Amino acid sequence: MKTTLIRGGTVVLGQSVAPRDILIHGETIAAVGELGQVRADKTVDAGGLLVLPGGVDTHVHFNDEFMNTVSVHDYYTGTRAAAFGGATSVIDFSNQAPGATLMSTIENKHAEAQGRALIDWGVHPTITQHGNGGDLERSIAQIPAVVAAGSPTVKVYMTYRNEGLLMEEPELRRILAGLRDAGGMMMVHAEDNDLAEASIARYVESGRTAAIHHAESKPIEVENRAIETCLRVAQEVGGRLFIVHMTTAEGPELVGRARAAGVDVIAETCTHYLVFTDDMLRRADGIKWVCSPPLRDARAQDALWRCLADGRLAMVTSDDAAYAWEAKLYGQDRFDLVPNGIPGIEPRFQLLYSEGVATGRISLPRFVELVSTTPARLFGMTQKGALYPGMDADIVLLDPTVKWTMNGQTLHMATDWSAYEGIEITGKIQRVYSRGERIIDGDACVAEKGRGRYLHRRLEL
Ligand SMILES: [Zn+2]
Repeated sequence: MKTTLIRGGTVVLGQSVAPRDILIHGETIAAVGELGQVRADKTVDAGGLLVLPGGVDTHVHFNDEFMNTVSVHDYYTGTRAAAFGGATSVIDFSNQAPGATLMSTIENKHAEAQGRALIDWGVHPTITQHGNGGDLERSIAQIPAVVAAGSPTVKVYMTYRNEGLLMEEPELRRILAGLRDAGGMMMVHAEDNDLAEASIARYVESGRTAAIHHAESKPIEVENRAIETCLRVAQEVGGRLFIVHMTTAEGPELVGRARAAGVDVIAETCTHYLVFTDDMLRRADGIKWVCSPPLRDARAQDALWRCLADGRLAMVTSDDAAYAWEAKLYGQDRFDLVPNGIPGIEPRFQLLYSEGVATGRISLPRFVELVSTTPARLFGMTQKGALYPGMDADIVLLDPTVKWTMNGQTLHMATDWSAYEGIEITGKIQRVYSRGERIIDGDACVAEKGRGRYLHRRLEL
């Protein structure tokens, strides 16, 4: 088996940051430490570079049919952009099609990834209103099968009735009970449908249809009420709850109180909430930043950063939902017709490093936890998320001294526009390894199409 020695970099191992060498043997890490005498087939000088575990992005939407369009990231373009951005594992949401079983959500993604995925990938099956012909009990009965198939994290939406996604409180209860009994976890998009629907209708009827009205029509109460609802469900049912893309200052407080009361709940936020505020929606091109939940004000953003630093928020994902500009324009004059989402699979790692570590808001070990270690652990990827011997050699070499400008030209995502324009970044990825194989080298992606493998996941007990 081929060996590679990464020599002289600054390696993050848990809370320790120190100069270390890493020996890769085939696909895994064989040794970490001072390996002065060791010889390898290939030696890489990592002097001056940070050596970090590959990013784990558990929130992406590839080939996602939504709001009259389909996301432009597929398993080739999406994983390629992910790799450029330092991610070596992604987990993709897969909505149950009308009439389809829950298992089909995984089977469909195998077909999409076949011959295309560049990095390792997993699936979150998403229960919809129309799955199994609208027979929710049948979908719930299929939960043990998707857990056994290595996709134990099932998503539900508390809104988007018109998209066929809405699950109401009694349904959440039944789904969570099914997941609890099968050893799974329920992931929740928390926005209160009753409040949101009524409010959006009022805005549209009164002609308040600009991009900023998207955010105004779904104020923090819409999210906070849904968070309260799903926490109540988890309190009563038990089981494991994960709240995706939290944006409010109150959300982490509610989660903290529920945890203190014994609820097994964890929450994440996403890159864009940490770097953009609702001011972006006031721009002429504000539809670029229409996503749900909406961008919030600077006060909420400050709170999110504090919660990331002190642990009340566990991790940061991209919520990559990349729609073409043509599709975003459906809602140029009607915010409710803009496909909700921001292409962000590539910026996450380097933005969080630059805005978090380089500015001193979070420590380097905390950064690694947020983008890699914690998502790997919470989502059942035992081989990922850290650089200990025996784990997959998924490694990012980052030069902390390089300054560059993030924009559509310097990124590699498949969209014909970018929300990340002109952001000054400190720190640049130089190389990425996935299971011991070099996949990104400077500006080149050298990964072979289809090399990515299905992540068969199992949650910790
Ligand atoms: Zn999402």
